[in-house]
Amino acid sequence: MTLNLSSSTPLTWQNRFARLGSDFSTPQPLRPLSAPYWVSRNAALARELGLDASWLASQEALETFTGNRALAGTEPLASVYSGHQFGQWAGQLGDGRATLLGDLQTPNGGFELQLKGAGLTPYSRGGDGRAVLRSSIREYLCSEAMHGLGIPTTRALCITGSDDRVRREEVETAAVVTRSSPSFIRFGHFEHFSHANQHAELKTLADFVIQHHYPACRDAAQPYAALLQAVSERTAELMAAWQAVGFCHGVMNTDNMSILGLTIDYGPFQFLDTFDPGHICNHSDNQGRYAYNKQPNIAYWNLFCLGQALLPLIENQEHALAALESYKTVFPKALENHMRAKLGFSDDAAQHDDKALIESTLKLLAAHQIDHTIFWRRLCSFARPAGRESVRDLFLDRPAFEAWATSYAARLAQQDPHASQALMYRSNPKYVLRNHLGEQAIRAAGVHDYSEVEKLLQVLQSPFDEHEDIAGHQALADFPPDWAAGIEISCSS
Ligand code: AMP
Ligand code: MG
Repeated sequence: MTLNLSSSTPLTWQNRFARLGSDFSTPQPLRPLSAPYWVSRNAALARELGLDASWLASQEALETFTGNRALAGTEPLASVYSGHQFGQWAGQLGDGRATLLGDLQTPNGGFELQLKGAGLTPYSRGGDGRAVLRSSIREYLCSEAMHGLGIPTTRALCITGSDDRVRREEVETAAVVTRSSPSFIRFGHFEHFSHANQHAELKTLADFVIQHHYPACRDAAQPYAALLQAVSERTAELMAAWQAVGFCHGVMNTDNMSILGLTIDYGPFQFLDTFDPGHICNHSDNQGRYAYNKQPNIAYWNLFCLGQALLPLIENQEHALAALESYKTVFPKALENHMRAKLGFSDDAAQHDDKALIESTLKLLAAHQIDHTIFWRRLCSFARPAGRESVRDLFLDRPAFEAWATSYAARLAQQDPHASQALMYRSNPKYVLRNHLGEQAIRAAGVHDYSEVEKLLQVLQSPFDEHEDIAGHQALADFPPDWAAGIEISCSS
C-alpha cells in the first residue's frame, strides 16, 4: 500500500510482522484520546524515515500518532510475548499498551512504527494501556540521547498529549510516544513460544528474525546457534556502551531485551551523576538486581534464557553454550576499547597495563564520589595545565588525585596529543539526560511549555558538541542540583 506523505518518494507500508499470523499478534482497534495536541516532533528522525516535515506538522499526523485516525496501509496490532521479570518466570505479557502500526519502507530500510500508550490491548492484564506525559517525555528524550551517543536504541518520532486523565500514584495526563525500530521483537517473544511448546511458531519466529535482521546466519552450519551468537555479541557491545557512558536501564527483564541488541523500553533509567558502581536507579528494585554494576551479568543471564528458549531449534546444548560463550570475550574487549578511548588511548597502541589504569581510574571515581560525566569531559583537556587543574578541582583529596594523575600523564604522553584529545572529545559526552534535566522539562510540559523538551532534544542529539550557541546550555552540562538526589523513579509509568 502506497501513500503520498513524503516530499519525494511515496511511502510504502509492508507489514511483515502482521504476516506472521494470529499466533504472534492480535489486530488492534485504535483507541482515541480526547483533543490531542503536539508535545514534540523529531525532525531529524522524520527526515531519516522519509516523512515530509509539513505532513508531520499536520492535523492528520497528530491524529495518526495519537491513535485517533487509521492511516491507510497500516495494520495495527498488539504482539504477544512472555518473559522473566526480576529473575522469575512471569508467563504471558505482551504489548499491553503498545500498538504496532506496521513497518515503513524507508531509504534506510524497514522501520516499524509503534504507538506507546495507545490504550487497552488483549495483553494489558490489569493495566490501563496508557502512558503518562512524564514517562513519555523521558522515553522520547532518552532514546534520542542514546542515538546521539552512538548507542544502539529504538528511536522516538514524536509525542502527542491529551488532557485525558491517567491514574498512577497521582492523577496525571495521557501521552503517546511514536517509537521506531527495525523490529520490536524481544527475547520474551522467543520465550513465549518455547515455554508453550509451540516449536513450529518458535522456528517461524527465528526464521523471520534471521531473514530480515541477521541474514548472515542463514548460511551458517547451525543457523539458530549462529543467531544466538550474533545476539550475544550485539548485546555484549550494548552492555559495554551502557557501562562506559554510565547508563542504568533499571528494568532488564527478558521482555525488555531487544533481539537486535538495541536499548528498548525506557522506564526508570538513569545516567549516573556521581560514579557509584552499586547505584540502583529503579525505586521498585528493592534487591538491587538491576544495579549499574550488575547490568553486564544480568544481560548474560538474560541471554541464557534466550538460549534455553532456542534449545528446541539448536538441539545440541553444547552448541548453545558455545554461542553464549562469545559474550564473555566480546563484552570485556568492547568495554576496554570504550575505556581506552575515554582515556585518549588510540587502538593501535594498547599496552598491557592499560587495564590496571582503567581500573584505578574507576576506583578513584568511586572512592571520591566524583561526577561521572563531568570527570570524563574535563579529562579531555587534561594535557593542558588549566585542563588538568579543572580535573583536580573535582577532588577534595588532592594527594589521591595527584598520585593517579602522575601515572595517567605518563601514559598519555606516549600518545599523539592532537589525536588523543580528538578521540576523547568524541568519546566523552558533554551532555547526558540527567534525571533532573528530564524532571525540569517534565515540570514545564505540565503547564504546556515544551521549550525545555525542544532544547534538550537539540542538545542531546549531538552530545559531544559544545553547543555554546544555545541559551542556558552550560546549565545542561552542570552538576546536578541538591534536589536531584530526591528524585524517585519507579516502574510506574
Ligand atoms: P514494562 O516493565 O514497562 O516493560 O512492562 C511490563 C509489561 O507490562 C508489558 O507487557 C507491558 O505492556 C505491560 N504494561 C506496563 N504498563 C502498562 C499499562 N499501563 N497498561 C497495560 N500494560 C502495561
Ligand atoms: Mg517492557
